[in-house]
Amino acid sequence: MANGILVIVEQNDGKVSRIGWEALAAGQELGASLNVEVHALALGQNAAAAAKEAATAQIKSVAFAENKELAYYTPDGFCAAAKMFIEKTSPAYVLAGHSYQARDYLPKLATACNRPLIGDCIGYRNEGGALVFVRQAFQGKINADYSFLPQSGAPHFVSFQAGAISSDKLQRGGSASVAEAGLDLSGVHIRTKVLEIFEGVKGKVDLTKADIIVSVGRGIKEKDKLSIVEELAKVMGAELAASRPVCDDGWLPIDRQIGSSGQTVSPKLYVAVGISGAIQHIVGMKGARTIVAINKDERAPIFDLADYGIVGDLFEIVPALTAAIKEAKGA
Ligand code: FAD
Repeated sequence: MANGILVIVEQNDGKVSRIGWEALAAGQELGASLNVEVHALALGQNAAAAAKEAATAQIKSVAFAENKELAYYTPDGFCAAAKMFIEKTSPAYVLAGHSYQARDYLPKLATACNRPLIGDCIGYRNEGGALVFVRQAFQGKINADYSFLPQSGAPHFVSFQAGAISSDKLQRGGSASVAEAGLDLSGVHIRTKVLEIFEGVKGKVDLTKADIIVSVGRGIKEKDKLSIVEELAKVMGAELAASRPVCDDGWLPIDRQIGSSGQTVSPKLYVAVGISGAIQHIVGMKGARTIVAINKDERAPIFDLADYGIVGDLFEIVPALTAAIKEAKGA
């Protein structure tokens, strides 16, 4: 694998997570751009099953480690395992999705390897064979370019924001080789112990898994009017989401907020109703495959991003849309 790309694929009990697929898609893109091979590593309980799944992506090989030291995620265990594998294989780039887990162990891993990390990237470009990565700064107000200095040496550590490179771009139909990573972690000092794993908020909505999202903004004006948007979401089989002011006012729970201080989503369809398109909102939904915006202000920034825009009063458009969908469904 020397000089190739190593993707650390996040998995949960044998299933590659969405951000894991996105990291594989990023690996494929970077691999094609640099004309190098792409390999993957899955760590943790049932990583072998996840590795088999990951091997369906068009990449060269997938290694897995299910050592007892990795039964539960710990930064010490994952960092030690990944470092050992990196030392064995000498990749040029190490990629991961910028998940909660990755933000926990990846800086530690890069530091342990004495290398810098460019984290939470939203894009990249190839400038004459050198990769330039784009990150946001100042709460998404500006984008900034980052590159590794030549003297920093391989491997280069990079993580991509959820939705930055859609898993829809993943090239499947591969038949990568799958092998146990062969790591001896018996001497690794793991300083934390997982006592219990539980859902952060009971019944919390995971909008990251939704295919269709109807999202409502301050244009709805008052809580009592939300029902028209709820009805649209219902007929579309969509999850309901919101911009921050709607959640700040307590009209919808905070776990439905999309944006820099909410969830980052990449559904197939995102319908933004009465949302202006502030940067803090856009960072959370720009990864949607198709964006439809309904806004009475034709100059609203959301239209710069939208694939389809409807300029008009949401109180007329949303009920009409709901009725049309119901009719089309024969309901
Ligand atoms: P507005 O900007 O007020 O837009 C309302 C829109 O509705 C307007 O474009 C208007 O033309 C339209 N409208 C009004 N009436 C109608 C009608 N009858 N029919 C059709 N359209 C109509 N925001 C987030 O969303 N998520 C975040 O995670 C987030 N995090 C933040 C973090 C920080 C540190 C800061 C400073 C801000 C954050 N914000 C976040 C807030 C963000 O800056 C915006 O204020 C917010 O996104 C605006 O929400 P909005 O589009 O619903 O409201």
